[in-house]
Amino acid sequence: MIVVLLGPPGAGKGTQGERIAAHLGVPKIATGDVLRAAVKAGTELGLEAKGFMDRGDLVPDAVILGIIKDALAQPAQAKGVILDGVVRTVPQAEGLAAVARELGKKVDVVLAFDIADDALIARLSGRTMCDVCQTPYTGKNRGEKCAKNDGGTLVRRRDDEPDAIRTRLKAYREQTAPVLDWYVAKGAQVAHLDAVGSVDDVLKRALTAVGR
Ligand code: AMP
Repeated sequence: MIVVLLGPPGAGKGTQGERIAAHLGVPKIATGDVLRAAVKAGTELGLEAKGFMDRGDLVPDAVILGIIKDALAQPAQAKGVILDGVVRTVPQAEGLAAVARELGKKVDVVLAFDIADDALIARLSGRTMCDVCQTPYTGKNRGEKCAKNDGGTLVRRRDDEPDAIRTRLKAYREQTAPVLDWYVAKGAQVAHLDAVGSVDDVLKRALTAVGR
């Protein structure tokens, strides 16, 4: 089962994606995590992506399509995969459909996270992340230790600074929101999710939406 999580930054795709993946017993892939790991490791991919990410701009489609191809070909994804933030433009949606088709698969469900801008801005500006394992936190301060005891310290993502947040929301509205219309036009199963509420409540809605 391929599940695409679509929604603006800060909507909770990462948090819910982890939980949905654990519930279904399939892996989750987040292009944001892949790119941040590449930036940290200083690879060619990381060097190419860093400037775009720091500004809050989308990384070019060709780079993302390379990641999608590699990721879907992994044997771990035989049972399915949760794609978090992986599809943010119509060409990426087309590319994913083509890669899935080659593998005899298709996108089964698109989960659209609905949330208002003021709630997003409050979430993103209050968010920190472990500098080792990338686990995101809300309600914890910079400098605190990661709860996973991996020696990590909580930092603010550079793209959670106010200027970058504005750019990311603009990119979402202009480039990612049309992806939803594209899936609807293609007859995909698109389920809307009220993304405001406790983590457990939103998870229940998400599992109902994917039929579990
Ligand atoms: P995220 O962690 O999902 O908020 O992603 C962080 C940043 O990585 C985004 O603001 C983009 O710069 C980049 N990124 C992640 N996924 C994509 C994608 N599918 N297309 C383009 N850029 C992406």
